[in-house]
Amino acid sequence: MEQPSTAPHIAIVPSPGMGHLIPFAEFAKRLVHRHTFSVTFVIPNDGSPSKAQTSLLDSLPPSITYVLLPPVSFDDLPAETTRIETIIALTLVRSLPSLRDEMRRMVESTRLVALVADLFGTDTFDVAKEFNVSPFLFIPNTAMCLSLLLHLPTLDEAVSCEYRDLPEPVKLPGCIPLHGRDLPTPVQDRRSDPYKWILHNARRHRMAEGILLNSFEELEPRAIEYLKGEEPGKPPVYPVGPLVNMEQSSKSDGSECLKWLDEQPKCSVLYVSFGSGGTLSYDQMQELALGLEMSEQRFLWVVRTPNDKAADAAYLTAHSQNEPYEFLPEGFLERTKDRGLVLPSWAPQAQVLAHSSTGGFLTHCGWNSTLESMLNGVPLIVWPLFAEQRMNALMLTQDVKVALRPRADAESGLVGRDEVARVVKGLMEGEEGSWVRNRMIELKDAAAKVLGDDGSSTRALSELALKWKAKLVNQLH
Ligand code: UDP
Repeated sequence: MEQPSTAPHIAIVPSPGMGHLIPFAEFAKRLVHRHTFSVTFVIPNDGSPSKAQTSLLDSLPPSITYVLLPPVSFDDLPAETTRIETIIALTLVRSLPSLRDEMRRMVESTRLVALVADLFGTDTFDVAKEFNVSPFLFIPNTAMCLSLLLHLPTLDEAVSCEYRDLPEPVKLPGCIPLHGRDLPTPVQDRRSDPYKWILHNARRHRMAEGILLNSFEELEPRAIEYLKGEEPGKPPVYPVGPLVNMEQSSKSDGSECLKWLDEQPKCSVLYVSFGSGGTLSYDQMQELALGLEMSEQRFLWVVRTPNDKAADAAYLTAHSQNEPYEFLPEGFLERTKDRGLVLPSWAPQAQVLAHSSTGGFLTHCGWNSTLESMLNGVPLIVWPLFAEQRMNALMLTQDVKVALRPRADAESGLVGRDEVARVVKGLMEGEEGSWVRNRMIELKDAAAKVLGDDGSSTRALSELALKWKAKLVNQLH
């Protein structure tokens, strides 16, 4: 039989979606570069890995390999009404038999010590345990989000109404109080399948032998202090962030927009993007376009076909569409052609945010986007759409104070063009903009420090790596 390599081996099982895969890939790279581990990504899927996903996986260094598990089918579920969280959770559950086969193969051919899954993937822990492999959890979000997930089972028992109807704010340890309506979308309807899946996974979070977190102490000091404190049944927490994609996998994509950025003045362009799959309604898109035009600022906007039904409509198909622009206001492209560039579907975001012409980011507050902006010192306009983005927006505006927030009209629920123009001008030219910009630069410096040789996140990763290496030594004796 082939002798296993002597490097400790880690299996990573990401949930579907680029937002989960990207920070996992950065984590794996740091692990193999700094601590000479080897890693296999085991990818549950429904048969259609996106171009963004495969190009990222193909770009990983040789000690990080990947296996696409046999695709699972959702033919038994109503395509129109099945929500994304259900698809994500079921993709993992339905992949368990093939994960088991893959684990068997890895146990025989590598020194497999741990399996790391994310917040939707805790059912994989049972498979890990069958093979005496340690289950670990990776939270690709904030400490606030982890604090919520650890408390959700208690909250679920204590509260009988919908959380949004609670008269008092929800107080999570170490976090600013937040209104129930700002909790993540899947917990907004407690009878829904997404809620059941989140709760099911949250109940199992404490089964992990450790929890990795894509955040850092200077960013969320109080929440991380709580999470690192001892509490019966709470696994140790390792804040290893910011784990951020700083180089784009596909170099050919978006070179047109980088050339365009080269021609713009320093710090003058607002980058507008709603993540790998966020979509606006048709009416909202009109207001945003006209507001950008009225602001008279330069902008680079990643545009996706509007969808009136769901804000996460393109989440699992990111990067695979070619959009026509007929849904933009008539004449908009022509009128703004000297100041604005519109891109279909996907931008080389890492390079855009690192570019010296980029001076602001209007974002849906996906956590990867937020951290990428932070590492480049680019201040934000928050425009949360789904998942935990409202929580992130609240934290970024009220606690961390690196962002401005446009207000939606109470009646229509839309952010009107005047409001868009006001906030965009405020960020790019106003006093409030320069205040949040300075604050963002402070955090950029703090982020660089925590990732340095003696930084807190580097030390947390080393602590974890030592633990895993010790486990391997135990296994061998
Ligand atoms: N991304 C990108 N180009 C795009 C849109 C997104 O490169 O046009 C990347 C972005 O840099 C980030 C990730 O996709 O790393 C999106 O993750 P995030 O957590 O911000 O949001 P999600 O897509 O999960 O909603």
